[in-house]
Amino acid sequence: MTVPLLDLHAQYAPLRQSLLDAVTRVCDSQRFIGGPEVEGLESELAAHLGTPHALGMSSGTDALVAALMALNIGPGDEVITPTYSFFATAGSVVRVGATPVLVDVDADTFNLNPAATIAAITSRTKAIIPVHLFGQAAELAPIVAAAAAKKIAVIEDAAQAIGCQYQGQPVGSWGDVGCFSFFPSKNLGGFGDGGLVTTTNAVLAHRLKLIRNHGMEPKYYHHLVGANFRIDALQAAVLRVKLPYLAAWSAGRRANANRYRAMFAAAGLSQVTLPVEAPDRTHIYNQFVIGVPNRDGLRAHLDASGIGTEVYYPVPFHLQECFASLGYKPGAFPVAEAAALSSLAIPIYPELTEAHQAAVVDAIRTFYRG
Ligand SMILES: *Cc1c(COP(=O)(O)O)cnc(C)c1O
Repeated sequence: MTVPLLDLHAQYAPLRQSLLDAVTRVCDSQRFIGGPEVEGLESELAAHLGTPHALGMSSGTDALVAALMALNIGPGDEVITPTYSFFATAGSVVRVGATPVLVDVDADTFNLNPAATIAAITSRTKAIIPVHLFGQAAELAPIVAAAAAKKIAVIEDAAQAIGCQYQGQPVGSWGDVGCFSFFPSKNLGGFGDGGLVTTTNAVLAHRLKLIRNHGMEPKYYHHLVGANFRIDALQAAVLRVKLPYLAAWSAGRRANANRYRAMFAAAGLSQVTLPVEAPDRTHIYNQFVIGVPNRDGLRAHLDASGIGTEVYYPVPFHLQECFASLGYKPGAFPVAEAAALSSLAIPIYPELTEAHQAAVVDAIRTFYRG
């Protein structure tokens, strides 16, 4: 039995006609930039995420860049990010000319360590970017409190965590700006690139709106230098079809996570470290990442058995070639470095069946037990 890491066909098949109808609606309107699909998506997402302002963006990466620009962050400023995340988290900081200050993650959740974050604050710190990695909220309370006390902004990188909650409140509404991605592999994925920013601050919302469209208001009058960070009407129309299913899909991922837990327990595989769910937050399992010895050997064995996996992430930021000038050395962040060697994402998508999951667990058992 082959089990891909993600099967987008399984999600597409039952929605095919509605999705094609939505795409046709946009084509028939010939309205591709802005317009009712984008506005509709934005108001539906604002309601879904419990935030007054939600603005569609061209990608999750551009959402982060726009958030940093809206907060006037640039050369000479420091922005604290975890060293272990998707590249865009720190890449966006460098793109606005600021300096990423990297911090290690917690060993159980792979999220920003609050004590290390607070210790990294200097007089130049302008923002902190907690990442809700793999779909589980970072420990926001101490970070948001420390940032508020020092007048430092918080930009949540919620690209992997749409619909996830922390202390009963959706992520993306804790910080000054929340950034989301509609990359096809995220829990809410478009037919290409797309993203979103959320904020509860009306002034920031207006700045973000300007920045996303060349600082222009009205047409051809430019208040600031922004960029083209707009979402396409075609993407918005597709996402509007999918949004009503998002909660059920994330519940499906959670149910699959629970089934894996039962299966791994029954298999008695002590070699495998399962994802830890920290208290006070929900995990929407954009990824189900296990920790294993001889990870690359297991990965090759699973590949040969027809089971898709991925390594999130093989190289922490502080060891990336393009960040060499930041001056970090190997050993600087031992938790992230250990995670980079041992973590392996296994299939968790909502349509996964019990038989698929049994095949995954069985193949892992065969590798360790023969
Ligand atoms: C996917 C992702 C992004 C970037 O989103 P894109 O839409 O691909 O640009 C940023 N941060 C994290 C943590 C991500 O997983």
